[in-house]
Amino acid sequence: MTTRAVRVNQLGYPAGWPLRATVVTDVDRPRAWALRDPAGRTTAAGTTRPHGLDRAAGEVVHTLTSPPVSGEGTGWKLVVDDVESPPFALGRAAADAYRTLAADAARFIGLQRSGTLVAGRPAGHVDVPPNRGDGSVPCKRPDCPRRRFLLGCRGHDLRGGWYDAGDHGKYAVTTAVTVWLLQHAAERSGDTQLLDEARWGLEFLLDAQLPLTDPQAGLVFHAVHDVRWTGLPMRPDQDPEPRMARAPSTAATYGLAAVAAQAARVWEVHDPAFAGRCRTVSDIAWRAATHHPVVYATVAEANGTGGGPYDDDDVRDERYWAAAELAALTGAEEYRYAMLQAGLDPIEALRTGFDWRSVVPLGLLTQALSSGWTAASAATTARAALATVGSELLATIDAQGHGTPYAPDDGHYGWGSNARVLAHALTLGAAADHTGDHRYFAGELACLDHLLGRNASGVSQVTGYGTRAASRPHHRFYAQAVDPSYPPAPPGVVVGGPNSGLEDPVAAAELATAPPQKCWIDDPGSWATNEVTIGWNAALAVVSGHVAARLSLPVLTVGCARSARPAVRRGPVRRSAGSRGTPGRGRTAGHAAPARARCSRRPRRPSTARATATTARSPW
Ligand SMILES: [Zn+2]
Repeated sequence: MTTRAVRVNQLGYPAGWPLRATVVTDVDRPRAWALRDPAGRTTAAGTTRPHGLDRAAGEVVHTLTSPPVSGEGTGWKLVVDDVESPPFALGRAAADAYRTLAADAARFIGLQRSGTLVAGRPAGHVDVPPNRGDGSVPCKRPDCPRRRFLLGCRGHDLRGGWYDAGDHGKYAVTTAVTVWLLQHAAERSGDTQLLDEARWGLEFLLDAQLPLTDPQAGLVFHAVHDVRWTGLPMRPDQDPEPRMARAPSTAATYGLAAVAAQAARVWEVHDPAFAGRCRTVSDIAWRAATHHPVVYATVAEANGTGGGPYDDDDVRDERYWAAAELAALTGAEEYRYAMLQAGLDPIEALRTGFDWRSVVPLGLLTQALSSGWTAASAATTARAALATVGSELLATIDAQGHGTPYAPDDGHYGWGSNARVLAHALTLGAAADHTGDHRYFAGELACLDHLLGRNASGVSQVTGYGTRAASRPHHRFYAQAVDPSYPPAPPGVVVGGPNSGLEDPVAAAELATAPPQKCWIDDPGSWATNEVTIGWNAALAVVSGHVAARLSLPVLTVGCARSARPAVRRGPVRRSAGSRGTPGRGRTAGHAAPARARCSRRPRRPSTARATATTARSPW
């Protein structure tokens, strides 16, 4: 009968919210837990709740939920039966760490830029040997107007954009999702840095759209990548493989239609000329995709090449997404009709969460934003869907030993399961904003608890965040784990995470008998569990940025509602004062610091930046 591990969010826990953790123990009765400050003094205590077998983790565990946290600083530990958790931060230090994480997560997308000097790394794929692209990348289309007799396509200028993952492929569908996430966050927070990064990806999509002189005018190239796979390590500018443009696809084209419509909206105040161009481009893309409704990217096309297939033979959801963005931009009935005609169930799509192949939730999140842009009924319906699925996710989080919102019916963890957790976190965060119900925000925090260490590996899935954190991702440039002359992974990068498919040889050899949530290995050879992508990191940037922004909102602290000054609130922030700590309101005695300590904190006013942001139309 032993207690073996105490698993916590190694980043930490912000003030006013409970500390949630998982204890691996085969003792069946509740165990005493103690929260210790950096000097080793116990500042709060309680008992665990036996959970039983956590099937995903393959372990018998207890869970614990503390009263709202009131400590400050770093180096705190949770102790159960003399077993210590890794250290974590509390209070302001945790909130600040979320802000840093949001910046780091967004910065990584910039580090994935192709075609430009990045943080001292030479520009990749700008036709400087040994690179062979991307200034003129040939396609294989028999009717390409740039085709020369017997010599094939002369090539297309596809420089720029982002490398999608640990290799040098650039994919329109994942670029579109990344652009959308960054623009969505910028739209809600007013952060123009995110908008600038989004534009880098959007400009690539604009370049990948075929000109009006082409038989497939308006369609978008699906991808550009190497003809053969390269190995690790490999700096982008040293990639010697020829490049190839994958045939245009309807999915990629709807992706451009969606993010260009979104860009037309969010750029309107910053750069009206660019916004106008995006509006035109979106319209052209929408018409082109409607005219070529079934041009699918296939597995066969990618077979034997150096790129992933990113195949998709159901583009109803991409059409829905583009229609939702165009409806939000123009208000035209045509697009609302197209959304209905797609015949998709938004609630079902939200339950699964978005990825590059399933994008209904993105359209739904835009629809939910404001009745000022869309029909009030569409916004109401979208918000109701977010609340419904948000409540289901809360139940799932509570039912699982490690507090994950991800619980596939067959128990099989899929590729990029960490991104699924982030997709659910996005749903919960939006539900919190649109309903004002603090429980959804607690759920969003729980998702981050899980990723940042409260999981079956006990390892933070984000590089640089936690004393036990992923540090050896599958990446050709951040490849210090395979070659010391290469740089280590930058901080704030989320790895793919547990994947019971075990599609790579390292995972297959090391994890064959592991339960689903332990099907992860911090090894650069495991691309199926330990690769990184721009889309996953964009989701991390959005979620951690949302959390940081909400934590910095001027709300009254727990127990101080009557004595403190009224907080300044601008814009449609519908959260009531004191809601941040409501889960444990009035239950602080004996566990947390005295109420006096919390009341001494004055309500914070928004900084200038926040004030700008909160005058925006969203409750971010
Ligand atoms: Zn061509």
